Amino acid sequence: MRLIVDFMCGKLARWLRVLGVDAEYYGEGESTELLKRALREERTVVTRNTRIPSAQNVEVLLLKSEIPEEQIVQVIKDLHLERNLAPFTRCNVCNGELIDVEKGGVKEKVPLYVFQTQDRFKMCCCCGRIYWRGTHVRSMEAYIDRILETSEE
Ligand SMILES: [Zn+2]
Repeated sequence: MRLIVDFMCGKLARWLRVLGVDAEYYGEGESTELLKRALREERTVVTRNTRIPSAQNVEVLLLKSEIPEEQIVQVIKDLHLERNLAPFTRCNVCNGELIDVEKGGVKEKVPLYVFQTQDRFKMCCCCGRIYWRGTHVRSMEAYIDRILETSEE
């Protein structure tokens, strides 16, 4: 499932990426351009904009809530993504895919403490950002579990 998340829902886009969903963010521009890009890249539009013009061959998911947590649940439910989530496979900054990298290759790129205490690292194939499963990851996993529990109700 490929999505393009409209203006003002940047937090939703980042969380969808954390869950492994291919979610581009459309930060600014005209709705018509958004629809053109969605069509070109075969993406479903996710938006809060009720005035988005309908376009042929473009699927539009209208978000009911302005609260990111509720938006995530709606997207997962309405697009039936429960079975297709792959947390920590995608860069939450640029939507690039994460690839495994050798520990030796990241020494200069992460804090010394992280290098000493972590063994597995991933790198974004697009922006080069390095990821590891630190404490923030565990708190994110707990958060994701809560979201998924909510979406199963
Ligand atoms: Zn990236």
